[in-house]
Amino acid sequence: MKLIPANSFAFELVHIYAQRCDCGGRYEVRTQHLLKANETPIDRITAVCRRCGTERDFFFDVHTFYGLEEGTSSRFAATEAALQAGIEAINRGDFEEAVGHMRRVVDAEQGEPAFGWGHYHLGMLLLVLGRREAGYEEIRRAVALVPNEAEFHRGLAKAAELLGRIEEAEAERALSENLRQRNEADPPPAVEAAATEAPSPSRDAG
Ligand SMILES: [Zn+2]
Repeated sequence: MKLIPANSFAFELVHIYAQRCDCGGRYEVRTQHLLKANETPIDRITAVCRRCGTERDFFFDVHTFYGLEEGTSSRFAATEAALQAGIEAINRGDFEEAVGHMRRVVDAEQGEPAFGWGHYHLGMLLLVLGRREAGYEEIRRAVALVPNEAEFHRGLAKAAELLGRIEEAEAERALSENLRQRNEADPPPAVEAAATEAPSPSRDAG
C-alpha cells in the first residue's frame, strides 16, 4: 500500500479529483475508512471511475492532523492561498517570488507535499529561471503524483528538451497528446481549472 502524505482532509479530495482512471474518466468518492498501520493513522478512501466504474483505493497518511479536525480547513486554505499568490506572481512575471509561493504550496509541514500542481508550477518556474535539472525533478514529482495528467507530461517533455534529451522529450510529448485526447471528454473540476489558468512560463522559456 502506497501512502500519500496529507496535511488536511480537503487535500485528500483535491488529490483524488486530480487523478484520472486509465480509461480517462474522473473519480467520485464512495467510502472512507480510518485504519492504523504501525500506529500511523491512515485514511483509506475508495473512489469509483465515473466513466468505466473501476474502483480504486487511495491511502493517505493523516498523522499530522488526525484528531485535530478543527484546524484542517484553515490549513488547506493557506495552501490554496499560496497557490493563488504564486499564480498571480507568474501572471506579473515575478518568477522568483512565484517560486517562494510554490515552495510553500508543497512544503512538507506548511503546505501539501503531495500536491501535483504545486510541484508542476514550481518545476516550470525553475525551468524559466534556468535551473533545468531542479525543474525537471519537480515536474517528475508532479508526474509521479498524478500520472495521467496530460499537462504534466507536456511539462516533462519541455524539461527533457531543455536538458538535450530529445528522445525522452518526444516520448513525453506523444504521451501527453494521447492523455489529452483520452481525458478530453471529462472536463476538470473547479479547483484544478483554477490551478491551470495561469499562463505556463514554459511558453516564454523558448
Ligand atoms: Zn475508468
